[in-house]
Amino acid sequence: MPQKDENAREFRPETKVVRSHPHDPQTGAVSTPIYQTATFKLAAPGDESGYVYTRSANPTRGALESALAELEGGKVGLTFASGLAATNTVFNLLKAGDHVVAGDDLYGGSVRQFDQVHSPNTNIKITYVDARDPRNVENAITDKTKLVWIETPTNPLLKLYDIAPIADVTRKNEALLAVDNTFATPYLQRPLDFGADLVIHSLTKYMAGHSDTLGGALITKDEKLGERLRFYQNAVGAVLAPFDSWLILRGIKTLAVRLDRQAENALAVARYLEKHAEIKEVFYPGLDGVPLPNKMKTGGGMVSFKVDYDFDSVKTLVMSTKLFTLAESLGGVESLINHPASMTHAAIPRETRLKYGIDDGLVRLSIGIENSADLIDDLGFALKALSGSRKKQTVTSQRSCPGESPS
Ligand SMILES: *Cc1c(COP(=O)(O)O)cnc(C)c1O
Repeated sequence: MPQKDENAREFRPETKVVRSHPHDPQTGAVSTPIYQTATFKLAAPGDESGYVYTRSANPTRGALESALAELEGGKVGLTFASGLAATNTVFNLLKAGDHVVAGDDLYGGSVRQFDQVHSPNTNIKITYVDARDPRNVENAITDKTKLVWIETPTNPLLKLYDIAPIADVTRKNEALLAVDNTFATPYLQRPLDFGADLVIHSLTKYMAGHSDTLGGALITKDEKLGERLRFYQNAVGAVLAPFDSWLILRGIKTLAVRLDRQAENALAVARYLEKHAEIKEVFYPGLDGVPLPNKMKTGGGMVSFKVDYDFDSVKTLVMSTKLFTLAESLGGVESLINHPASMTHAAIPRETRLKYGIDDGLVRLSIGIENSADLIDDLGFALKALSGSRKKQTVTSQRSCPGESPS
């Protein structure tokens, strides 16, 4: 295993993201080599003191895993083929009949996995609550609750949860607290510092940062929990490949400069939208002047907004931008525009979606590192196309967006 630089602990976040993984111990290569091998030569039969087989451990993946543990302030980092593969591995810890409390605003694919895989297949019950009030979490806990699962900021409404009081509730009730830190990244907030037991990532997003690969991660301070998860990582086998590990290691080195620029652009875009006559509501952490929880460094790079138009009009809007690319995913250097109701959150039944505020008028932006004036001009142009269509949304609107399955 590569040795960690013990001094890295003293460094500031901007330094850590660049220096959290060591030079290659074999050759001194500054960029960790891609150890593109399935298997390794053993010194003797049954000798498992070094690398054996890439599903169990690989040096490139190991460099990424130790960098992630370092950045999140954990002891064990594990990486997977995607964020949802990491999520599934957490559910390997649970048994039939166990109960999970989850935040009510989550990535649509997480909700699909909870409700359409774990609930029916393994009889795991899930209760969704608004965790902005930790008492809602406490009230939902039963003697069968083993796991509390939250995102903060949430997707797509960018709600903020204070992690520490929720961790108090889970500790008292002997449940694990898992925090999906995909939107904030360890550069903005470190959930383990506030009492979370587990951090989950879709590395696909800000960590990799270039919309060119998929990956997922689990990080914990608890070595026993880490070893159980490491067992499932190997036994179930949805591991991250060496090349993807390398791409994500490369991405992480620029995390701080990317996210600083994205947050600066996002704030400029949010302030512009706030004043625009066509915009009903803007969602951006801290825009309302309320201090950010969990010592968040900035509000991050995601902005959502609502317009009071029906699906056809909103479709015109999201197809009228030139810079903002209509696409799933987020966190890359290029700006993307997304319509949650028909895209990232289409797997959630319409009635449930509406209950949580994900209506046809909601648009989510992933802000890139372009010039913010160009981004604002682009949105201004698209909003003009919207006002030409003049069809207001009604809750009972027959012409709702199609509920096709998202990626
Ligand atoms: C994308 C995403 C996931 C799922 O990750 P994949 O890498 O797409 O499997 C989980 N949580 C959040 C918050 C996400 O944005």
